[in-house]
This record gives sequence, C-alpha cells and structure tokens, in this order.
Amino acid sequence: MRKIFVQEPDSDIWKKWIRDCQEETQKAIDSVTKGENPKINEKLYKRDSIKKSYFVTKGAPFYGRCTYCESPIKDNQYPQVEHFRPKAGIMDENRKVINLKDENGIDTGEPHPGYYWLAYDWRNLLPSCAICNQPKSTLFPVVGRHAQAPNEEINEKPLLINPISELEDDNPELHLSVDPHTGIMSPVNDSLRGAMCIKLFRLNEREQLVDERKKIRRITNTMVTELYEALQKTGDPTYSERQAYQEIIKCYEELIGVFKGSQPYTAAYLSILRQKGFTIEWLQKKCEIFQDLLSNLDD
Ligand SMILES: [Zn+2]
Repeated sequence: MRKIFVQEPDSDIWKKWIRDCQEETQKAIDSVTKGENPKINEKLYKRDSIKKSYFVTKGAPFYGRCTYCESPIKDNQYPQVEHFRPKAGIMDENRKVINLKDENGIDTGEPHPGYYWLAYDWRNLLPSCAICNQPKSTLFPVVGRHAQAPNEEINEKPLLINPISELEDDNPELHLSVDPHTGIMSPVNDSLRGAMCIKLFRLNEREQLVDERKKIRRITNTMVTELYEALQKTGDPTYSERQAYQEIIKCYEELIGVFKGSQPYTAAYLSILRQKGFTIEWLQKKCEIFQDLLSNLDD
C-alpha cells in the first residue's frame, strides 16, 4: 500500500458523473429519511467511461494497480471499483454484523444500513483486485463507534487505511513497512491500522505478492547504481556534457516517479529508498539543477 496522490479530473464526463452522483446520493438520503431502504445504483458508481478513464487507466493516479496490494490489475481480470466505507451493511473484523446504536450507545438490534451517503463519493471509491475485494466485502473495523449518518464519518477512527485520503494519518508509510530481504510487511511502531491491513488483505499470506516485493530490492539497487554511474559521466571525456546531463535527469526522473507511485509495489521501493536517505524533495531539487544545466547548453 502506498500514498496515492489524486487530483480531481477536470473533464466534462467527470463533471457530469459528479452531478449524477450528487443527485443519486440525495435520493438515497431522502429514502432513509422516509424510513425506506436506500437503493444503490451499481451502474452509476462504476460508470464505464469513468472506470476506463480514471479507475483502471494505466497512468496516474492508480497506474492500473490495486489500491490495497499494489498488484497490477490485468485486463483479463475483472477490475473492481471498491467502496472503502461499505455502501450497504457493515461487519467488524470478526465478521460480526454491526447494528445501529441509539443516542445512549445501546444496540438497537437493527442492522446498520452501511455508508449509503458515500456510495457515489469518489473519495470513497478505489480500484481493487478481486483477491483483495473478496475478503474485504463489507468489513469495516473501527475503534469505537461507526458513523451512522452523513458527515459523522469525519469523527470516525477506521482501522483500515484509505491511501487517497488527505488526512495525515492515512499515509500508509506511517503504518506499513517492507523488509527488503524477505518482502514481508510489518506494522510500523505496532500500528493497529497497519496490522489490520496486513491481516484483512492477507498481504503476507499471498506467496506471489511477497515474492514480487522481494524482487524490488534488486531493481531499486540497480536504479540507484545507474544514477551514481550517470553522475560519474559529467567528468568523463568520452561523454558529452549533454549526454551526461540527459542521462542523469532520466535517472532522477525515474526515482521521482517511484515516489509518485508509478511502479507496482511502491511500498517496497520506498522502504529501501528511505533507508538510503532519498526523499522526493531532494531528488526534485537535484533534478532541477541538471535541467538548468542542460537548458544553459541550449542557450
Ligand atoms: Zn489487491
């Protein structure tokens, strides 16, 4: 799991979708006010045009990958648009159905309807592979009480992590780290949220996933070596300054891309790069220096 930087798209199809989603959300809220069950329009939240252009596109923000396990979602698998907060019904981590509570916190015996008011909220929708989505289903463990009405979720303390959330504590790096030698994930500082993600998405039980994370160590080391080799070329007379600068910029840009989440299993890359002292800010600063040098050659 890695932090995903999302910018709301500016396209007309997106704006139309948001308007339709707002309308449908209001309908759901109105039905609950009237004492009816909210109907969820499945076709709307995973509208084809939005799915293709946003949720499962090869580029930013999700790079064609599962939000939770970071595996590429292949075209032949059925990519799913997952609700972080479940749209209908909630269970805790032990698969116990959550009931509504009255104002004194007493169980009413009536099942919680789920976060129907977030069923069409793009900040609650995440692309996910079938392997992660299945065990998650309507599971949504929290510390304390579940939100029961619109906006109450602001005060909720989820035990899962939403990597597109802008909340400081939703940065997966604060909760999860990867051992570069074994590919095994561990909670950072005994983080309960990290431990819950590992358990619920079976991040250490899936052999292939652990193997893929293990391979990242070699790939990262190669990237760093290539950068140092490129930097050596500035003093090497067999290379022109232009060639050397171009290569250095390419290496910096690749590493910056890793920090932005362009590679599968970013969490594994970051555990290694952080250990080596790299930060995105430092890389960007260095990259700009060589971009300036290169443009000076053109002047
Ligand atoms: Zn997954």
